[in-house]
Amino acid sequence: MPDDCLFCKIVAGEIPATKVREDDDTLTFTDINPQAPTHVLVVPKRHIADIAELSADADAGAALLRGIRASAEATGLTEFRAVFNTGAQAGQTVFHVHAHVLGGRRMQWPPG
Ligand code: AMP
Ligand code: ZN
Repeated sequence: MPDDCLFCKIVAGEIPATKVREDDDTLTFTDINPQAPTHVLVVPKRHIADIAELSADADAGAALLRGIRASAEATGLTEFRAVFNTGAQAGQTVFHVHAHVLGGRRMQWPPG
């Protein structure tokens, strides 16, 4: 785990976050800069850098999908968008894999 990983520090409780739910494998907290009425981040508790690494671990991938589904349920969303920004050009700024779960308004497509 890189010492300077923001989301590892949130998982460890070293940086505060508004926790929405957690299970053995994942933590969900609200995004500090929300882009929709509901905007949460779902992260594996163990440091996994990106989708390439996540896809090599079927259990971790399934756990993250379960975390996404459960987070939608916990926030009362029946319709939502789940986004993995992957790479700087796609908008990724934190290199600990995370799903954005957004909802509560009509989501535009294409996203731009
Ligand atoms: P990304 O740009 O896809 O890597 O997503 C990183 C997300 O983390 C952004 O939407 C930020 O608003 C969010 N973020 C950054 N710092 C924090 C923090 N301390 N607590 C909660 N969310 C954060
Ligand atoms: Zn990390």
